[in-house]
Amino acid sequence: MEKPKRHYIIKTLYHMKERCYNKDVKGFENWGGRGITICDEWLNNSEAFVSWALANGYQRGLTIDRIDNDGNYCPENCQWVTIKENNQHRRSTRFFAINGETKNLQQWCDIYGLPRSMVEKRLSLGWDIEKALNTPKKKRDTESLVGKKFGRLTVVRFVGVGSGRKSRFECVCDCGNTVVVDRQKLLSGHTKSCGCIRQEKCAKISAFKRD
Ligand SMILES: [Zn+2]
Repeated sequence: MEKPKRHYIIKTLYHMKERCYNKDVKGFENWGGRGITICDEWLNNSEAFVSWALANGYQRGLTIDRIDNDGNYCPENCQWVTIKENNQHRRSTRFFAINGETKNLQQWCDIYGLPRSMVEKRLSLGWDIEKALNTPKKKRDTESLVGKKFGRLTVVRFVGVGSGRKSRFECVCDCGNTVVVDRQKLLSGHTKSCGCIRQEKCAKISAFKRD
């Protein structure tokens, strides 16, 4: 037998309380830490919340939504929304529920302080929304290549970010020249010298032709 609606409404209230008042809960800084609170009526009397929910269209599968994202959990600022309907009505906007709260992707990205393009890329790779939002931005690797050798090139130092946000490294070639090379070109084996390997090959070919 299916559990009564009341069970799910109480569960939603429990998660609201956790988000707003339990510092140990993941994501607390996005709710309680931002000053979001629950009105006294709901906080002190779960039945008041249940009554409000049932009187305001609660159905299984709906999630609570704060109309004003900076406002509190209280009857004036809350509504029940479906993820599915929202997605059908507004195709360009994707909605996600986390701990029973629904927001669009942009709102979640703002709350978690991550660029939307990065989160969208993660989702397209099959990450679930919570992992996509809770995994911090990868720090640019400027250290691990230093001192390593790729062909004739020894990496000296990170010099900065080039076009396409590529990491660029200064390298010293065995022949003594210094060149700046993209990280990816070093790792893929595309660039193995300052250009002297190619010059030597050309010289060999022209010497061969002369013979
Ligand atoms: Zn060289």
